Amino acid sequence: MFSVNIIMIINNLDQLSLNAGTFTLYKRISEQYSNQAILDSIKQLVPDTVLKLSREDQSLKPILHWFKNVFMKWMPKELQCTRCNRPMRVQVMEGDSTTLRKTEIHMCDICGSKQIFPRYDKILRITETRIGRCSEWSILFGAILNSLSIQTRIVHDYLDHCWNESLIDKKWVHIDSTLDFPISLNHPYYYEQNWGKKYVYVLAFSSDTLEDVTTDYTQHWDLVQKRRGKEDKVTEFKKIYFRT
Ligand SMILES: [Zn+2]
Repeated sequence: MFSVNIIMIINNLDQLSLNAGTFTLYKRISEQYSNQAILDSIKQLVPDTVLKLSREDQSLKPILHWFKNVFMKWMPKELQCTRCNRPMRVQVMEGDSTTLRKTEIHMCDICGSKQIFPRYDKILRITETRIGRCSEWSILFGAILNSLSIQTRIVHDYLDHCWNESLIDKKWVHIDSTLDFPISLNHPYYYEQNWGKKYVYVLAFSSDTLEDVTTDYTQHWDLVQKRRGKEDKVTEFKKIYFRT
């Protein structure tokens, strides 16, 4: 009976492009956010000049700017072979250990050149490669803010994007290190207004909470509710999250 329930829950999740795997990932990330040894090491990454500017401005702008424009690199979904100027083929290998979610191998069928993109769920490994897409960026940026004693969590829209929220003046505030300032800070409707997002569930993860934050990101709550139908799955999500 127990296993049947799990299968039913996982089927429901699949319908929404959700899966228990992402819950496990965010649980692991959230646990690292409260690991002092990891945070101490992450804190060293931020240059003193950036921290000083941030303190003087009383703003996260200098940190957001440094992270996006100096520290991190963006990994495109599709690469061009630099020798042949042709699109490379992507092969995805599932992770074989607890540090690796999966590996993307970008290959050129003409000259045989390869580029390997390992996708880590250990935050310190991401600091070694400094490359990724929104998941690596939000995982690491969240760790940086936590290391500076700004309580920060991960948010996923279960469409194709994730970002952070930080507790500022006792309110959770939208922060997206992949975007340019000022859009990167407290512009929660940006995705719906500019990317045409049609949310069903936007979820925020900490080690001890899973919160449905969809209403904070939509100006069309009536449409979100229609997409959800009669069943609200947040209780199921919580069950899975706290089981992982
Ligand atoms: Zn080539």
